[in-house]
Amino acid sequence: MIHSATNHRIPLSDGNSIPLIGLGTYSDPRPVRTCVLGLKMAIDEGYRHFDGAYIYNNEHEVGEAIREKIAEGKVKREEIFYCGKLWATEHTPELVRPALERTLKGLKLDYVDLFIIEIPMAFEPGKGMYPKDENGQWLYHKSDLCATWEVECHPYFTQAKLWEFCQQHDIVIVAYSPLGTCRNPRWVNVSSPSLLKDELLISLGKKYNKTAAQIALRFNIQRGMVVIPKSFNHKRIQENFQIFDFSLTEEEMKDIAALNKNVRFVELLMWSNHPEYPFHDEY
Ligand code: NDP
Repeated sequence: MIHSATNHRIPLSDGNSIPLIGLGTYSDPRPVRTCVLGLKMAIDEGYRHFDGAYIYNNEHEVGEAIREKIAEGKVKREEIFYCGKLWATEHTPELVRPALERTLKGLKLDYVDLFIIEIPMAFEPGKGMYPKDENGQWLYHKSDLCATWEVECHPYFTQAKLWEFCQQHDIVIVAYSPLGTCRNPRWVNVSSPSLLKDELLISLGKKYNKTAAQIALRFNIQRGMVVIPKSFNHKRIQENFQIFDFSLTEEEMKDIAALNKNVRFVELLMWSNHPEYPFHDEY
């Protein structure tokens, strides 16, 4: 099926569907109102999928923008796909529902379309969002996880094995950090190469009159992956959405896949001694 700016939802096995491109909303720092303005611009541009979380501290702004655009008649609630997240201190089963209800209260919406486990490592509940003991050590907690499906993915971390497995089992991958993150040294390994400065992505961009960012996003959606690039900047919100009017050749897809360096930008090394730390394993 050929996807376009107005028609790019892909089916999920449960009968629902998800738009191939979503707007990431994690932002640090968080200048007041930029999230509301960014979201409203994105809805005007045609974005219908928003990736948020309570821990991003701006979920109320995301909800405000969505509600305003619904009230304006620009969009209907059922056209929007909102993904919220359960934070690490709330994995205990009885804490899940109140966490979801808090998200709905913040958004002032009746439902979310997806509610996922934010990170597959639990922290001790009831001691703040980032609990530490008196010696400054992280307070971990035994987790009861079945699965987690979110995956960093971009041309430097192509996730070939996981992608193949998911294709075989009809599982849709949502690729976070598809542009290689904001490179915030607090949680990103900034000694890793910058994805958007990659020569191949830049030269393919020249060929198609696109940017390296658009080539990186196109690569993922052409593999059937959902992408959730974050931007609250009007020009880049527009730019990231203009990925449905060209396609990469098979050869170019192979060349980009060959860029893989197994570079994981979001390593979360500060939690690498957590018993459930997910990135020691190959998947
Ligand atoms: P991205 O790969 O989306 O990169 C975002 C950065 O790239 C920002 O600094 C943005 O700046 C800049 N940018 C955006 N568009 C362009 C462009 N066209 N050209 C050049 N620079 C650009 O990183 P994120 O890590 O934010 O990932 C996206 C989203 O995925 C998050 O916002 C969040 O919603 C989700 N996520 C979830 C995680 C989880 O553990 N569950 C982990 C990480 C991310 P500007 O805003 O100024 O345009």
